[in-house]
Amino acid sequence: MKRSAEEASLLVDRAAAASEVINNASSDDANPHRVSMIASSASLMSTSHHMSSSSLSSSTTKSTNNNSNQTFLTRFINARLLQRDGSLERGELTVDSSTGIIIQIRFDSQQHQPLQDNTDNNIDHNQQISHTVDCRGMILSPGFIDIQLNGAYGIDFSNGGCEDNHDDDSAANNSRNNSGLCIHDIFQVATSLCQSGVTSFCPTMVSSSRDTYRRVLPLIRNARRQQQQQQRDNTKIGANILGMHLEGPFFDPSKRGAHSLIHILAPSKGIDTVKEVYGLNQVQEEENDNDVDYSSPMLEDIDIITLAPELDGALDATKSLTQPSASERNVIISCGHTGATYEEGLQAISHGATLLTHLFNAMNPFHHRKPGLVGLLSSKSKLASMGHQRPYFSLIVDGIHVHESAVSMAYNSHPNGCVLVTDAMSAMGLGDGVHALGDMSVNIKGDRATLTGTDTLAGSVVSMDTCVRRFRKFTNCTIGEALLCATLHPANVLNRSVMQERATEAPIGVLEIGARADLVVVTDELDVVATWVNGKIAYDGRKLL
Ligand SMILES: [Zn+2]
Repeated sequence: MKRSAEEASLLVDRAAAASEVINNASSDDANPHRVSMIASSASLMSTSHHMSSSSLSSSTTKSTNNNSNQTFLTRFINARLLQRDGSLERGELTVDSSTGIIIQIRFDSQQHQPLQDNTDNNIDHNQQISHTVDCRGMILSPGFIDIQLNGAYGIDFSNGGCEDNHDDDSAANNSRNNSGLCIHDIFQVATSLCQSGVTSFCPTMVSSSRDTYRRVLPLIRNARRQQQQQQRDNTKIGANILGMHLEGPFFDPSKRGAHSLIHILAPSKGIDTVKEVYGLNQVQEEENDNDVDYSSPMLEDIDIITLAPELDGALDATKSLTQPSASERNVIISCGHTGATYEEGLQAISHGATLLTHLFNAMNPFHHRKPGLVGLLSSKSKLASMGHQRPYFSLIVDGIHVHESAVSMAYNSHPNGCVLVTDAMSAMGLGDGVHALGDMSVNIKGDRATLTGTDTLAGSVVSMDTCVRRFRKFTNCTIGEALLCATLHPANVLNRSVMQERATEAPIGVLEIGARADLVVVTDELDVVATWVNGKIAYDGRKLL
């Protein structure tokens, strides 16, 4: 696979950006080897050089000095690497497990010209541990990213929080003075998700009370911060906790699905209502000084808000949240639980919405004279003439929420927009029975979750790897194309697949130099074999190591 000069220089830029991320992320890390190694690995991609195969054949651990400058490399060989276009290229990939960054990729098609191992030349062998993982011809993909997960393994992200969760003392965080969500629970979900290949997820709340938002948002933020520290210390490995997905409460009451009616309202005063309901920066505004109360919800806690764009004030809120002032962070706005028409959908896109939440579910069905939001998928030129792209759309491919024919139709209308979500609730992984979803009761039977005593679907209980397998079966797409819908596309939704200006975190959802080493090895049947988060093993189902 030949790379152009522009691509080569892009890789060098990415590597330089990645080194900044690394330096920003680890205060105790001033290893010059690491930066030069990354830069050199980028140049490896741009020249005719390649590594000698002899340096990769060993799986032994090299001797090391146990000091802070130590570099821990993990090399994945005999892999088929997922590319941005969905192709699978045979080759190998090297990660610096101490920083969690991909530092080198080489394709077998480059092998015919022998060369020196530039990586080794830049590392003092006394400071390097090298570990080789033989992928045995299986697929190496970026880890899965689930942007809509209400909970799993008995834990519900909408279940309030403990009073003691707001400080950083771990004993307090783990104590339970009521039955609410605790930081320990969030970590438990994060750890368990790695079994299904998930390496990043947006904890998702159903429409909740004001009090619950005020409890849960700071709790998830604390979990994120603690997790980042744990990853640096290598003390606990679990799927990355991304910003929250707040699903509701700004919904059309008639399309609320399993959401509780008492919480549903319109954002009549636009961004002001949104801030008031979620409790965003209340203390900062009231006290009008620079002392932000970190125990209150903040805009930085939120990645995605799902709302119904036709409601009073919803377009104003959408515009304010997606095109904020320089001091505020933007939020992804998704249309969902909505009775919006096609025209109202166009309006939402023109005001900044970029995603449709669980397409087909809780929205108007496609009709040939009233296409509704589903019609936006085939409106490429119409939206282009307005200066916009078609929205991404999430799909719950559990085989229950959407018929396979509709899955296939949506995907074929707009393949690059398709994002798989589990929309899983707390009973995922628990089996049949009665379980909690927010303040409601849900009955689970097989793969079906319904509000107790009704036929209303209440989220799913399938895992992401199951969704990927079913999606491939329903659409007859390639393995790589199915994987993109759980990796690159959700990363694109979050603007995380490329290095962003002023970003403090490396890209996710791609196998590229400078990206986070969140990886999953899968078979051709899309069964998860092993998972790495931040360059460290998080799940090894078939003892690949
Ligand atoms: Zn929903």
